[in-house]
Amino acid sequence: MKLYNLKDHSEQVSFSQAVQQGLGKDQGLFFPQDLPKFSATEIESLLKLDFVTRSAKILSAYIGDEISYDDVLRMVNNAFQFPAPVKAIESDIGTLELFHGPTLAFKDFGGRFMAQALVQVADDKKVTILTATSGDTGAAVAHAFYHLPNIRVVILYPEGKISPLQEKLFCTLGDNIHTIAIKSDFDACQALVKKSFDDTELKNKIGLNSANSINISRLLAQICYYFEAFAQLTPKQREQLVISVPSGNFGDLTAGLLAKTMGLPIKRFIAATNANDTVPRYLDTGKWEPHKTVATISNAMDVSQPNNWPRIEEIYQREGWVLKSLGHGSASDEVASATVRELDRKGYLSEPHGAIAYRVLRDQLQAGEYGLFLGTAHPAKFKEVVENILGKTIPLPKELADRADMPLLSHKMADDFAKLKDFLVNLAW
Ligand SMILES: *Cc1c(COP(=O)(O)O)cnc(C)c1O
Repeated sequence: MKLYNLKDHSEQVSFSQAVQQGLGKDQGLFFPQDLPKFSATEIESLLKLDFVTRSAKILSAYIGDEISYDDVLRMVNNAFQFPAPVKAIESDIGTLELFHGPTLAFKDFGGRFMAQALVQVADDKKVTILTATSGDTGAAVAHAFYHLPNIRVVILYPEGKISPLQEKLFCTLGDNIHTIAIKSDFDACQALVKKSFDDTELKNKIGLNSANSINISRLLAQICYYFEAFAQLTPKQREQLVISVPSGNFGDLTAGLLAKTMGLPIKRFIAATNANDTVPRYLDTGKWEPHKTVATISNAMDVSQPNNWPRIEEIYQREGWVLKSLGHGSASDEVASATVRELDRKGYLSEPHGAIAYRVLRDQLQAGEYGLFLGTAHPAKFKEVVENILGKTIPLPKELADRADMPLLSHKMADDFAKLKDFLVNLAW
């Protein structure tokens, strides 16, 4: 597999290089040179396969002969050990539940496949994963790499801006998982990570690797559950399928669009955001004007400068699609809360991220279309928020209940690159 740097097309790397480097020169994102396509017949036979086998075939189509199909199959089998079921909500709307993994969010798919890919290509080298999280990536990455040999993980997150339970889920592990609460917002954490990658000396010294949604292996893994969703739909529902994606860094939507480039016949995508609505405003006005990030109850989407956006523009350009055709919309905290209540009345327990995607979908779905929205997190992952909205308690799944009483092991740090660098250089193996 060949990939190029979106900021400098002359920088070209293999899949293993892209997995290990995360980002290219000038913080450029890697993008596949070839976008593999399946014929309608091939898609049809793919849809008949089980999730793991089908996913290995999809990933192999991208990765090519760099990793054998049998190895890819083993990696997928280790990573995807939980289902992604479609649940019906209304006659014309369903949800794809992506939260049945160990950390109860869709990021388990990408995180766990990335961990497998990294171990596969690392050749016994020591690797330090540095990543910023607005909540769920951190937990997924931490659990995916926990106890893996020759790999240690450092996770930055904005202090006080993720839910207490989210924090418990990845800041109580210890061993090779190190967590730092930064006294600022998510964009600042992301900037610290980018600065670290720009520091060549630091990068080489500690074998830096990123693990947020910029790593290509995470994105490729996420393509697979769009096929899995499609496989569960009736022929009628497949005819005019609209998929609404609750978006923050836009990795999930990028993966969906890549599924479409492969030939999966999805009529339309909708990018749904919270008040951090840089993309919906951009699609309306043509002006890229990020505001300061604001805190919302859907905090995993509190991103005003989505780092996967250049990949989305590249897909549209390469495929000759019109960016204006990308559905979009946003919802305030008030609307998100009202929607969680509305879904509860329909008998479906949701949480603010999925609810926003449902809201925009419900408002924009046309007659004859079938809509799916991505359920990106388990409601219990946002227990306080959901209980507040609904005025009732919701049970904790075992994964969270077990961690809720353990002590936090996080370090605290100012938004200061020099301090972070010092920490990283002195971190013992
Ligand atoms: C990360 C996350 C999102 C946003 O996904 P992106 O790929 O960053 O757009 C949405 N919902 C939840 C629950 C998340 O954890």
